[in-house]
Amino acid sequence: AKADGKGIFRFFEASMDAAMQARRSLETDLRLALARGEFVLHYQPIVDLRSGQVNACEALLRWRHPERGMVSPLDFIGLAEEIGLIVPIGEWVLRQACADAAAWPAPVRVAVNVSPAQFRGQSLVAAVYGALTTSGLPAARLELEITEAVMLENTEATLATLTRLKDMGARIAMDDFGTGYSSLSYLRTFPFDKIKIDGSFIRNLPGEADALAIVRAISGLGESLGMTTTAEGVETADQLDSLKAEGCREVQGYLFSRPIPNENVSEALAAIGI
Ligand code: C2E
Ligand code: CA
Ligand code: CA
Ligand code: CA
Repeated sequence: AKADGKGIFRFFEASMDAAMQARRSLETDLRLALARGEFVLHYQPIVDLRSGQVNACEALLRWRHPERGMVSPLDFIGLAEEIGLIVPIGEWVLRQACADAAAWPAPVRVAVNVSPAQFRGQSLVAAVYGALTTSGLPAARLELEITEAVMLENTEATLATLTRLKDMGARIAMDDFGTGYSSLSYLRTFPFDKIKIDGSFIRNLPGEADALAIVRAISGLGESLGMTTTAEGVETADQLDSLKAEGCREVQGYLFSRPIPNENVSEALAAIGI
C-alpha cells in the first residue's frame, strides 16, 4: 500500500510538473502574441427581434498561434488577467474593434468585452476615448460588456468609471446575467442599458419550465427598468420562438451566425433576416 501511495504521489508530481510547464510555455507565448500580431477579432451579430435587423456585433478575441492554431479566449483570458497582460490586450481589442466598426453601416454598434483588471487601472476611460477618437467611431456605437466580477471589486470606483463612459456616450451591458450572486442590486446601482441573459438559461428552452420562468422574469425586469434584454447562445428555432413569446428584445447565437472575421461582416449583415 505504501509503494502504491508513493507511486500515485510521483504520478501526481509528474503531472503537476507537466501542467506547470504547459502553463509557463503558454505564458511565454502570450507575452509575445501582441507584438507578433497574433490576435484577431471575430464578430457575432446581435439581432433585434422586432425589426429583424442587426443592432450590433460582439467582438470576440481569438489568438492565432503559429503552432497551436486558433486558441479560444477561454484558454488564455484567465492567464492574461493573472499576469497583467489583459490591460494591453484589452486596449488593442478596443482600438481594433472601433476601427473595424467605423467601416460598418452606420447604425450597427460594436460590443466589446471588458475585464475586471481593466477597471482596476486608471487607463480605461482614456483607452476608450483614444479608440473612439482614432477610429472616428461615434461613442453611441460602442457598447461595453461587463460581468459581475467588475462590480464586486470596488463599487465606488467602478461606478465612477462607468458614469464617465456613459457621459462620453457609450452604452453599458451587464454580461452573463443570472450566473452571479447579487445581480439584482447591481441593476439599481449601475447605469446599464442592457442585460445579457446567460446562454445557460437559453440552452434548455423551451422545455424546462424553470429556465422559461427565469427568462420571462428577466425580460419583464428589463422592460420595467428600461433596459434591453439580449439572449445569448440561441441555437434553435424553438428557442427563438419562446424568446419572442417572452418579450426578449435581442438574440445572439449560432442560429443566426457564428462569430466571423471582419471581412465577412457586411455580407452577414445583409444576409440576416428573421
Ligand atoms: P461571452 O462574453 O459570454 O461570449 C459568448 C460566448 O458564447 C462566445 O465564446 C461565443 O463564441 C459563444 N457563443 C455564441 N453563440 C453561441 C451559441 O449559439 N452556442 C454556444 N454554445 N456558444 C455560443 P468565446 O468566443 O469562446 O468567448 C468566451 C468568453 O471569453 C466570452 O464569453 C468572454 O467572457 C471572453 N472574451 C472573449 N473575447 C474577449 C475580449 O476581447 N476581452 C475579454 N476580456 N474577454 C473576452
Ligand atoms: Ca460578452
Ligand atoms: Ca455573455
Ligand atoms: Ca456567457
